[in-house]
Amino acid sequence: MKEITILGSTGSIGVNTLDVISRHQDKFNVKALTANTSLDVFVTQCLQYKPEYAVMADEESASKLEEKLKKKSPDTSVLAGIDGLVKVAELNTVDYVMAAIVGAAGLLPTLAAAKAGKRVLLANKEALVMSGKLFMNTIAESDAELIPIDSEHNAIFQCIANTSNQGSNTIRSIMLTASGGPFLNTPINELPLKTPEQACKHPKWKMGRKISVDSATMMNKGLEVIEASWLFNIEPDLIDIVIHPQSIIHSLVEHKDGSVLAQLGNPDMRIPISFGLAWPERIETDVQRLDLFDIAQFDFRKPENDRFPCLKLARKAIKQGGTSSAILNAANEVAVNEFLNKKIMFTDIPKVIESVMNDVTHNNADSLDTILGDDSLARKRAIETIRNMGA
Ligand code: NAD
Ligand code: MG
Repeated sequence: MKEITILGSTGSIGVNTLDVISRHQDKFNVKALTANTSLDVFVTQCLQYKPEYAVMADEESASKLEEKLKKKSPDTSVLAGIDGLVKVAELNTVDYVMAAIVGAAGLLPTLAAAKAGKRVLLANKEALVMSGKLFMNTIAESDAELIPIDSEHNAIFQCIANTSNQGSNTIRSIMLTASGGPFLNTPINELPLKTPEQACKHPKWKMGRKISVDSATMMNKGLEVIEASWLFNIEPDLIDIVIHPQSIIHSLVEHKDGSVLAQLGNPDMRIPISFGLAWPERIETDVQRLDLFDIAQFDFRKPENDRFPCLKLARKAIKQGGTSSAILNAANEVAVNEFLNKKIMFTDIPKVIESVMNDVTHNNADSLDTILGDDSLARKRAIETIRNMGA
C-alpha cells in the first residue's frame, strides 16, 4: 500500500488524482489532502477519504474546516498555512506526493517532498520553472523519484523510460505538442477583446483557470519548454513546439538512431496521473479508448510569433538563465490574475511580462532566498506596471 499526500486536492489535477485512487484502493491510501479556500469541496473530500491530515493554506478556512470535521471525522488533524503544507509533504509515513498546487504557492511544499526523498508526481510546473537547477539537485541528492504529470512531459518520460539513463543521452530532439488553445484561429485583431470566460474555454482540456489562460496565450507551452529542459537535461534549442489541434499525440522524442517515439491517448489527465502512481507498472483507468477512425486526421503547424508573443519571452528567460524564469513566471502569474479580474486586456499579458523582464535584474538562481526575492520583486514590478497602464 502506498501512502499519498495530494497537494491541491480540490483542483482539476487533485480531483482527477482522487478519481484514479478511488478505483485502486487496494494500492493507494490518502494520507493527507490540502486546499487553499475551497471549503465545501474540501469538506466533502475529507469526509470521503478520511485523511490523517487535512491542510488549508488559508488560516480562516482551516478554522472553519476544523469546526466542520470535529464531529464527522474526528481522526483527521486539521493544519493551516504553509507550515502545514510542508509538513504533509515531508511526513515520514508518506510515499508519494502529488504536487498539484497552482503557481509559485506550490514551490516550498514541492521542494520539501523532493528533499524528503518522496516519489514526486509533478503537475505544478511553476515550481520547477522557478527553481530549475536547485530543484533537480535536490531530487538527485535525496534520491527522490520525479515523475512528470504534465501530459507532454509524461509522454516524453514514457518514450525514454526504457532507455538507459532515462534516455537523456539518446535524445536528439523533443517535439512538444500543443493544442494551440481557444484562440488558435481567432483573427489577431480580435484578441484584445477576448474575455476571461472565452480564454478559459479550452477546446480539448478541462483545467484550472490559470493554466487555461496560459494555454490561450501559449505561455503554458513556454513554461513547458523550460520544464522539459530541466526534466530531461536537454538544451531548449532542441525542443520544438508543434501545434497539434487534435491533442492526441502528447509529445514526441527523436532519438539519435532516427527513431521517433510518441505517446498517444485521448486528452484525459487520468492517463498521466495513473502512470505516475503505478510506475513502473500500469493500472486500469476508465479513460475513453482511442478511436483513430473517429479522429481520422492529425494536423501539425508551427506557432505564429505575433499571435503568441509569450513563447518568445519564455525562450528569452531560459536563455538568460538564473532567476529569469522565476521573474517570467511571477510576472505571468500577476498578469493572468489581473486579466481574470478584468483589470487588463488579454493582449496586455505579454506586455506586462516583457516590461517586468526588462526592469528586474536577474541573478544566479543557486539559493531559494534569491529565487523568492526575485519572484517577489517581479510581482511588485508587475503590479506597478499594470497601475501605470491606467488599470
Ligand atoms: P486548479 O486551479 O484547478 O487547482 C489548484 C489547486 O491548488 C487547488 O486545490 C487550490 O486549492 C490549490 N491552491 C491554489 N492556491 C493555493 C495557495 N496559495 N496555497 C495552497 N494551495 C493553493 O489548478 P489545476 O488545473 O489543477 O493545476 C494545478 C497544477 O497542475 C498547475 O501548476 C498546472 O499548471 C498543472 N497542470 C494542470 C493540468 C490540468 O489538466 N489541469 C495539466 C498539466 C499541468
Ligand atoms: Mg501540458
